[in-house]
Amino acid sequence: MVDIHTVDRDGSAKAALSPLVDKFGRAITYLRVSVTDRCDFRCVYCMAENMTFLPKRDLLSLEELDRLCSAFIARGVKKLRLTGGEPLVRRDIMLLFRSLSRHLASGALDELTLTTNGSQLSRFAEELAACGVKRINISLDTLDAEKFREVTRWGDLAKVIEGIDAAQAAGLQVKINAVALKGVNEDEIPTLIEWAHGCGMDLSLIEVMPLGDIGPERVDQYLPLSLVRARLAQRYHLEDIDYRTGGPARYVRVSETGGRLGFITPLTHNFCEGCNRVRVTCTGTLFMCLGQEDSADLRTPLRASEADGLLQAAIDEAISRKPKGHDFVIDRHTRQPALARHMSMTGG
Ligand code: SAM
Ligand code: SF4
Repeated sequence: MVDIHTVDRDGSAKAALSPLVDKFGRAITYLRVSVTDRCDFRCVYCMAENMTFLPKRDLLSLEELDRLCSAFIARGVKKLRLTGGEPLVRRDIMLLFRSLSRHLASGALDELTLTTNGSQLSRFAEELAACGVKRINISLDTLDAEKFREVTRWGDLAKVIEGIDAAQAAGLQVKINAVALKGVNEDEIPTLIEWAHGCGMDLSLIEVMPLGDIGPERVDQYLPLSLVRARLAQRYHLEDIDYRTGGPARYVRVSETGGRLGFITPLTHNFCEGCNRVRVTCTGTLFMCLGQEDSADLRTPLRASEADGLLQAAIDEAISRKPKGHDFVIDRHTRQPALARHMSMTGG
């Protein structure tokens, strides 16, 4: 192993481990951790109305999640995103943010962030900022309260707007993520752009991905962003820009608003060649690709020993299996979801 890193579990300078590089030469520097599969919403593209959640005993404790994240940070992960389910509904989640923030202080981690539906943000925004969180992603697909209720089944738009205001007041930089949904928000996209940019927030549009059986048919939800972009180009001047956040979005500047608009296009433009990330679930299962079934159990080696040797060996073995890319397809002939698991399990 090549010595590059000198961060230990407690954040102090100690062991030196090699960076994670897969067999295609991609360095793994970005970890997303789904800290819970539960959520206070039931978005129609993400979950079925009646979901069965994991028994609490199967979940990694907050201490175990910390240890797992720290093991990846020791291998060169520089960006850590907590997601879910809804990360802010996990009990005592702020303890995890607070303890992980030591890696920001030591310089081992460049960014600690989260993706949230915003429903709990008015309570937590200040504490997140105090933990060193600088930028957050908030998911919001519509500004119409009734439509919001239909899309999320259980959500209250006013509460989310309150959360966005609280995040901005706490000094957090907010990016809005909106899933482009055929016949639902497709006419509202210019409104979302002008609202987000008017409030100083970037907006990213996401193509719906075929993850999990959700009831309604995917093909009825799927709106290709190539089409959305062509429509927007008739109304706005979209200038390609190099701005990157370490994620898969490709950005343009909307000349009329001056703001940034991202396109996350797993279906119309595959971005796997530049993939730098892996995902861990709240049970310690590592998914090397969001779009493939292959996974590795990290909970067993984590629990088998107090030292990290077995865990690091399992991470190495898993990274050597990271596939070249996904093969998502949504069309009228492919009616099954590409993968049985829901997005809320692996985290967006
Ligand atoms: N609950 C948090 C939230 O909604 O932001 C974090 C988890 S959620 C699974 C993360 C992101 O995945 C959200 O932006 C959501 O819109 C997106 N998402 C969920 N299911 C999706 C799907 N099938 N296709 C594309 N995006 C999806
Ligand atoms: Fe919950 Fe996020 Fe999935 Fe919506 S997208 S159901 S808020 S996990």
